[in-house]
Amino acid sequence: MNKIFRINMSNLTTKCESVPEEWAGLGGRGLTSTIVAAEVPPRCHPLGPNNKLVFAPGLLTGTPAAQSGRLSAGAKSPLTGTIKESNAGGTAAQQLARMGIKAIIIEGAPTEDKWYRLHITMDGITFEAADSLVGKQNFAIIDEMIDTFGPKIGVLSIGVPGEMRMCAANISVKDPDQKIRSHGRGGLGAVMGSKKIKCITIDDTGASKVPIADPDKFRAAAKIFAKSLLDHPVSGEGLPTYGTNILINILNEAGGLPTKNFRYGQCEHHEKISGETMHDTIVERGGKHKHGCHAGCIIQCSQVYVDRAGGYITSGFEYETIWGLGANAMIEDLDDIAKCDNLMDDIGIDSIEGAVLLATAMEAGVIPWGDGKECQRVLRDEIGKGTPLGRILGNGTGMVGTAYGLVRVPVVKNQGIPAYDPRSVKGIGITYATSTMGADHTAGYTIATNILKVGGYVDPLTKDGQVELSRNLQIATAAVDSTGMCVFIAFPALDIPESFTALIDLLNATYGLDLTADDVTELGKKILKIEHDFNTAAGFSKQDDRLPEFFSYEPIPPHNAVWDFTDEEIDEFWDF
Ligand code: SF4
Repeated sequence: MNKIFRINMSNLTTKCESVPEEWAGLGGRGLTSTIVAAEVPPRCHPLGPNNKLVFAPGLLTGTPAAQSGRLSAGAKSPLTGTIKESNAGGTAAQQLARMGIKAIIIEGAPTEDKWYRLHITMDGITFEAADSLVGKQNFAIIDEMIDTFGPKIGVLSIGVPGEMRMCAANISVKDPDQKIRSHGRGGLGAVMGSKKIKCITIDDTGASKVPIADPDKFRAAAKIFAKSLLDHPVSGEGLPTYGTNILINILNEAGGLPTKNFRYGQCEHHEKISGETMHDTIVERGGKHKHGCHAGCIIQCSQVYVDRAGGYITSGFEYETIWGLGANAMIEDLDDIAKCDNLMDDIGIDSIEGAVLLATAMEAGVIPWGDGKECQRVLRDEIGKGTPLGRILGNGTGMVGTAYGLVRVPVVKNQGIPAYDPRSVKGIGITYATSTMGADHTAGYTIATNILKVGGYVDPLTKDGQVELSRNLQIATAAVDSTGMCVFIAFPALDIPESFTALIDLLNATYGLDLTADDVTELGKKILKIEHDFNTAAGFSKQDDRLPEFFSYEPIPPHNAVWDFTDEEIDEFWDF
C-alpha cells in the first residue's frame, strides 16, 4: 500500500500522494487517528469544511491472514465531539488494500447543493453526479450499483439520516453477500453527508496481490494464527455457533444485562432473545448460523437470520443490538428485533446508538415499552424520513434525553452506553469513562476477563484491578485496530501465547520488519495518547471521563451494585 488519495470536495480535485515516512508503519486506526490529529483543527465543527473523513485499511488487510479484512474510518465525531475511529468488515478494505491505497482523505465541502458518488478504480478517483440517489436508503443504493457495475463492485454509502447529518448516522459497507456491514459508532455517516458524498464505489479490476516480504515466514505464522483462533473455546466454538448473542444468557447470569433502560441487571424474558434461541430458530428456518463479514474470516460470528418462509431478514445480528432492543427496550419477539436491525442497516444508523435511543424514547413516553412494531415504524417513517421527531431521535440518545428532560440518560461523551452494566461489571465502566471515543465496549473489552475469564480473571464487582485491566486492553486494542484484524482475535491472543507471537510474525513477514511485543504495546500507547491529546485540544478534560450520575445512586439488582469509583481512581487510567 503505497499511495494516499486526497479528495478535496470544495474544488472537486483529487491528488495521489506518496506515503510520508512517518506514516509508513501505520494502518487502520493508527493511521486514521494520526491523520485526523495532524490535519483536523480540534475545535472545528465536525460537519464543517475543516473536518476530514479518512478511510484506511489495516496493516495486514488484503493479505491472506485470517480475520484481517477490516476498514477503519476516522474523523472528528459530530456525536461526541472527540476524535473517532470506527471499523467495519465488508469488501471495501481488501479491495482498497489490493489497489495499493493506504488511505483516502476527504476534505473540504461543496458550496453548491449537489451530491456526488466517488468512483475508485486503478486509474484514480472520479466525481460522479449522485443527485438521483438522494432520498434512497442503503439497500436500494447497493442494488442499483450492482445493476450498474456488477456484483463485485465495492460500495460505501449513507442513507437519508446521513444526508440529513443526524449524529446517529453510520456509513454502510457492502459485504460479500451484497448485504450491509457498518462503520457504526460516532455519526461518521453525518460527516460523509456533510461532504455531500452519497456513495463511494470501488472497482478493483487490475489490482494485484498485497506484496509480502517473506512469504514462507508469513505462511507459517498464518497457520499457527488460524489454528489458535479455531482452538480457543470462544472464537472456535462459542462465536461460530451462537454468534455474539451467546452473551445474553451469560450477562443475565452475571447480573450485568442492562434491562429497561439500565434499571435491572437481569431480564425475565432473556431466553426468548438468547443466542441459543436465535441459533435454534435460524437452523429450524433454514438460515445460516455461521457466516463471515469478509473473505478470510474463519471465526464467522455472523449469521443470516430468516423469517418462517426462509426469507432474509438480517445478518450480522449482534448481541449489542439484540440486548438494546430486547432487554433494554423490553421487546420480546426476536423477529421484531431482527426487523429493526434490518431497518437500521437500510436507513443507515448505528444499531447500538439506535437501540439505546429507542429505549430512552420509551423512558420519555414517546414509544410504549416493548413495542417492537412501533420501533419499526419510528425507524422507517420518522428517523428514516427525517420528520421533526425523527431528527430528534436520529441525533442520538443524549439528544433524546435533552429534548424530553430526562435524568436517566445512558451516555458518556454523548455516546450511548452499550450492553454491559458498568455497576456490575466495573472494568467495562472504566473503559466507557476513559475511552477516547465516548462509551465504547470494543475500546477495551474487559468482559473477556471480568466475565468470560479469558486472560485471567478480575472480579467484576470489586474495584481492584479494573483500571489496570482496562488500560492494558485499551492499549492492546488500539494496536490490534491498526492491523485490520477483527477484535475477536483478542480471545486466543490473551490465552494462547503462540497466537500473539504469530500476529507479530505476520506483521514482520509482510513488511520485512523485526517488531517485538514491546513495539506493539508502544504503538498502542502512542495511538491512545495521540487521540487523548486531540480530545484535550478540542476542550475535553478529566471531568468528561465520568459516567452518568444516576449510576452512582441507583443500585442495580440483583447485586445492588453502584458505580463507586472516585474521580482520582478513574484518572489513574492515564498514568502511563
Ligand atoms: S468474527 Fe465476526 S466480526 Fe470478526 S471478521 Fe468474522 S464475521 Fe466479522
